[in-house]
Amino acid sequence: MAQKVRVRFAPSPTGPLHIGGVRTALFNYLFAKKHGGDFILRIEDTDQTRYVEGAEDYVKESLAWCNIPYDEGPGKEKDCGPYRQSERKDLYKNYAQKLIDSGNAYYAFDSAEELDAHRKEHESQRKTFIYNWHNRLKLNNSLLLSAEEVQQKMNAGKAYVVRFKSPSSQILHMSDMIRGGIQIDTSVLDDKVLFKSDGMPTYHLANIVDDHLMEISHVIRGEEWLPSMPLHVLLYEAFGWEAPKFAHLPLILKPTGKGKLSKRDGDKLGFPVFPLQWKDPKTGAIASGYREDGYLPETLVNMLAFLGWNAGEGSEKEMYSLDELIEAFSLEHVSK
Ligand code: GLU
Repeated sequence: MAQKVRVRFAPSPTGPLHIGGVRTALFNYLFAKKHGGDFILRIEDTDQTRYVEGAEDYVKESLAWCNIPYDEGPGKEKDCGPYRQSERKDLYKNYAQKLIDSGNAYYAFDSAEELDAHRKEHESQRKTFIYNWHNRLKLNNSLLLSAEEVQQKMNAGKAYVVRFKSPSSQILHMSDMIRGGIQIDTSVLDDKVLFKSDGMPTYHLANIVDDHLMEISHVIRGEEWLPSMPLHVLLYEAFGWEAPKFAHLPLILKPTGKGKLSKRDGDKLGFPVFPLQWKDPKTGAIASGYREDGYLPETLVNMLAFLGWNAGEGSEKEMYSLDELIEAFSLEHVSK
């Protein structure tokens, strides 16, 4: 039996959700409903240093205003969502441990100064510093720590992270529903940190563990996450889990065509980039939103649907209802 379609929108509450994020949510929603599947909301708040007060409520209010309802939450058929990663910390720690036990991850005790010194040394030789297991062995560095040595360092209170052990050199073949086949030589990959010294997982670990446990069938997200795909595919392999299908959506560019539209562009571009008005909790600055500017949610949704997607040949309709968009939606018509 084919796997049930389950997709997620997984914003990090680091500021107001901008229209690029709303479009990602919309495409996930349309895809889920087209296939009779679920669309869930997951707040990825493991980076406490970038947490912005009010950003999570803003996401929920924005989705509600745009009529993009998520499944799983209070008052819904399943009341267990929306999910918040900061409430699932212990779980990620266990999964980091599993990777250590299976030899796919390791403790690293390098201080920020040591890492900086390595980087500078490489730069002086016009080389890029790639922190991976393979290179470290060549440097005859202290990577091959025995369990006792690890324990000693921990007992001495030395700060550590857990890093993924990337395969030394392998051509990794991947497939993206929008981009098609992608290949990468894994020797260019850094051994990314999975678990930080503050006891929190990084985005990569938490994201993969949750997508697996939440039975996500398709990961539909912005193209800025394409560079993370190799690590994610390798993490699925390391856990022995089947990876979901990936679809990376084209970026929404600034009107000049130069650079990605970002949260910082609010009000600087002469048109709103946020669905709702946003008041910065630190500065008190207000950025205008489509709602307050008098737009109807249907107008914004239609505009976003057609940013990077078309309904196929022979469809000249100007305005689509949400149901019509669901009916017409397919990832095949998303542009590269
Ligand atoms: N938390 C990531 C973000 O803020 C989610 C990326 C993903 O969907 O995997 O965009």
